[in-house]
Amino acid sequence: MLDERLIKHAAKEIAHSKLTLALTGAGISVPSGIPDFRSADGLWARYDPAEYATISAFRSNPLKVWEMLREMEDLLRRAQPNLAHLGMGEMERIGCLQSIITQNIDNLHQAGGSRDVIEYHGNAASLTCLACGRRFSRKEKEGEYTPTCLCGNILKPDVIFFGEAIPEDALNRSFHLASSAQALLVVGTSAVVSPANTIPSIAKRSGACVIEINQERTHLSESITDIFLEGDVVAVVPLLVDALKKERAPR
Ligand code: ZN
Repeated sequence: MLDERLIKHAAKEIAHSKLTLALTGAGISVPSGIPDFRSADGLWARYDPAEYATISAFRSNPLKVWEMLREMEDLLRRAQPNLAHLGMGEMERIGCLQSIITQNIDNLHQAGGSRDVIEYHGNAASLTCLACGRRFSRKEKEGEYTPTCLCGNILKPDVIFFGEAIPEDALNRSFHLASSAQALLVVGTSAVVSPANTIPSIAKRSGACVIEINQERTHLSESITDIFLEGDVVAVVPLLVDALKKERAPR
């Protein structure tokens, strides 16, 4: 059972922070019906990422890679933002959260009202032609079994495949924000995948209070986390938002 005093403590830290940043991962989208790709019921249990998720696999056999992508798109199409996404959107709206760095590609932060979202792994809501550079929204291409460009080339979703670089502007901006943050909220991620794993330590070294919301303890909770809020993200984030509103209300 989550201690109410811990929530209050976290809310106080955020309310007094001049710059609060969040880092999110697969765990925040699990309640929206998107299993962690790395988990036992995730995509990588059925599709070997070496064969289906590298950029060279896509370039050499896009039709095969689309077998996996169709399944991914089915999951994403059905998914709606949950109370954790909505709560973080609300935190931004009331001025308590500057930006979110996410490792997810599902566009659910934006759908939940967040405007400043830094995406490390891209976003599946659009597709690009690697031959001519034309871009399309997923909606425009809905219903096409293998989405194809006007030039005849098979389209690639704007997600970062293995073997592709993390977008440089996303990296630069997140490192800059992490080194000036006074509070860092880590939600639904154990932050073990590079380069997201560097964000908590950069923030911590720069003096930020690290607040972690996860179902289970992680290597962060054992090392640099200052306040660990244990529980389901869809339960804990709304409690934190309520506590923040109380903290900020004039007395
Ligand atoms: Zn094209």
